[in-house]
Amino acid sequence: MDPRKVITVTLPGAPRTKKTSNRVVMLGKGDNRHPVVLPSEAFEGWLKTLLTFRAMIQRQIRDTGVQIPVEYPVQIFARVFRDRDAGDFTGYAQAIGDAIQDSSWHCEGCNKNVLDSRLPQHREVCKVAKLSARRKGLGLILDDAQIDNWDGTRLLIDRDNPRVELEIWPAEEAVTQAALNFAVPDPFAEVGI
Ligand SMILES: [Zn+2]
Repeated sequence: MDPRKVITVTLPGAPRTKKTSNRVVMLGKGDNRHPVVLPSEAFEGWLKTLLTFRAMIQRQIRDTGVQIPVEYPVQIFARVFRDRDAGDFTGYAQAIGDAIQDSSWHCEGCNKNVLDSRLPQHREVCKVAKLSARRKGLGLILDDAQIDNWDGTRLLIDRDNPRVELEIWPAEEAVTQAALNFAVPDPFAEVGI
């Protein structure tokens, strides 16, 4: 069953973008040494707080009859209530897109990346299944590549009660594609680290 309802959810806390203070660190040794850009600490803090609400948010949404993470293309309408006039549109779109993705793991057994929602199946196939966290997210959609557009999204300010109000709609294309039995390709199928 795949009832395509609109998901309505409020993400508590003052939203933060990733690029306010990009941090570059050197990782690896010898020939493998390479720079890696880490997201801002502010973004990490916002995401960490959100993740403490992960189970509650997921339950709220599932109680409305929506299976998450949704796998079809989506349109996102966000009202971004900031605590101050900072950051730009693309910064918030990127941050929110990241936050609502499914968590994923790296399997050291088969060297593949596995979405959180696909873990049970993976454990069936891959008996080793030694996993390390790759990224963390709320699991409302599988991957931010599903986001078709941000139409209607606005940056606003509410100093007393900063938050992000989200409506996640099936993108119009999704409805058409569903009729053709379209499936979103696994974004990690070809990724290997
Ligand atoms: Zn594996």
